Amino acid sequence: MSTPPATSLAHDVDQLLQRLGVPRAAYTGGDLLVHSPITGEAIGAVPQSTLAEASAAIGRAHAAFLVWRSVPAPRRGELVRLLGEELRAAKADLGLLVTLEVGKIPSEGLGEVQEMIDICDFAVGLSRQLYGLGIATERPGHRMMETWHPLGVCGVITAFNFPVAVWSWNAALALVCGDPVVCKPSEKTPLTALAVHAIARRALARFGAAPEGLLELLIGARAVGQLLVDDARVAVLSATGSSAMGRAVGPRLAARFARGILELGGNNAAIVAPSADLDLALRGLAFSAMGTAGQRCTTLRRLFVHDSVYDALVPRLIAVYDRVPVGDPRTPGTLVGPLIDRTAFDDMQAALLQSRALNATVHGGHREAGIAGDAAYYVRPALVELAQHMGPALHETFAPILYVLRYQSLDDAIAWNNAVGAGLSSSIFTLDVREAERFMSATGSDCGIANVNIGPSGAEIGGAFGGEKETGGGREAGSDSWKAYMRRATNTINYSSALPLAQGVAFDIGD
Ligand code: NAD
Repeated sequence: MSTPPATSLAHDVDQLLQRLGVPRAAYTGGDLLVHSPITGEAIGAVPQSTLAEASAAIGRAHAAFLVWRSVPAPRRGELVRLLGEELRAAKADLGLLVTLEVGKIPSEGLGEVQEMIDICDFAVGLSRQLYGLGIATERPGHRMMETWHPLGVCGVITAFNFPVAVWSWNAALALVCGDPVVCKPSEKTPLTALAVHAIARRALARFGAAPEGLLELLIGARAVGQLLVDDARVAVLSATGSSAMGRAVGPRLAARFARGILELGGNNAAIVAPSADLDLALRGLAFSAMGTAGQRCTTLRRLFVHDSVYDALVPRLIAVYDRVPVGDPRTPGTLVGPLIDRTAFDDMQAALLQSRALNATVHGGHREAGIAGDAAYYVRPALVELAQHMGPALHETFAPILYVLRYQSLDDAIAWNNAVGAGLSSSIFTLDVREAERFMSATGSDCGIANVNIGPSGAEIGGAFGGEKETGGGREAGSDSWKAYMRRATNTINYSSALPLAQGVAFDIGD
């Protein structure tokens, strides 16, 4: 291919991909066009995997499993340690590539790569801690225990908005657990996936003895994803994306009794209680609602403010919405970059139209002119004051819209928090320990994440990440999420010369 003009974004992407070690043939001349949301410009033309190629890749991964499962776990951890080193070396370039392909501001692009490094460190430690239990048995001269074994090929389907971190949450754990990984990234972000696999190839080369097929990459849209969903050689599938995607994928996995880790949509809320530190709340709410241009699964989408502090907080928040710097993420000082594409913009405008039809007061939400050409979609984040918890507030719109309501009683606010399909993340701002504990209790937030005095977004990798209800129930990253990538065996060992049966059952064959 001809080299893109030196002043173009495509040129910058080409230079980055070259530095990261991606062969040009992997991102030129193909039929999957990739556009940067920063300008709308085409930055890659990626050849897609045919179904036959995808099936062959799954076959290689399955063959790799038969070897990798017998490599001792701490040795498997060594590969992940090397991966962490390679990611550290590539952090600046990969972070910038995330910015150019997804439109995140640089600190968020770099933050995503840091998250990859963090999960590698976590997984290296984990490779010596895949503990089973010793269990008391009712029979003398017996011992009972649990052991954990590699499960099989791990399929990973990712969403556009965390194009590199989600792969690593799964891959770092799967590798130490003994599972090869076959990834199908979002069709909107294949370039970062190509870069990640180039980085991983360097770690594999340094490791030396890894079987071929340990880390496979499939490029394509839904059809390629469905192949991963339906292939019996894929033992566990981690699928990140919308709840609509999960509704299609979940039953297909269930039909073949495969294990699924579903990480789906969110419609996250925060409560600001009368005792809240309003300065702190303002900062936490602004980042959670407007960061990543409202395109995080954990983005704050609904805000319930106690009547007694509403007038002290909400006008300040509206003022922040008015002045937050929206623009090209490469421009220093920008806090809100572009929406991913035209569809996201249209969805946002449709939700605002519905809000106006409900007599809501809409602040912002309009397209910001003069940042880039017609093919890029920059919006002023929208704050929508609603009188009732209803309409578009009940559903995730993947754009920066924050619905704000007054509440009188904490019971109402918690009921609203829980009154949506999604159950990912939530938070309360309060200095009242009773309110904080109630929010985190069995009668509080029904989400997988419930925070106090921080917003619902920006999780660390040490905790298990995921949510309930239409968020899919999956857990990734820290805590004991690794168990989803392994199979558990319960072992009973008789070291006596007698054969007592459990529950006192007698079965005397008279010999
Ligand atoms: P999306 O659902 O459009 O696509 C996600 C991925 O699923 C893509 O790779 C796509 O090709 C694939 N896909 C779609 N339908 C499929 C099918 N029927 N079979 C197999 N694969 C299929 O989501 P998106 O627009 O890329 O991402 C935004 C959504 O993802 C939001 O809803 C957001 O909340 C969610 N998300 C959730 C998490 C989480 O951890 N819970 C993290 C990031 C994003």
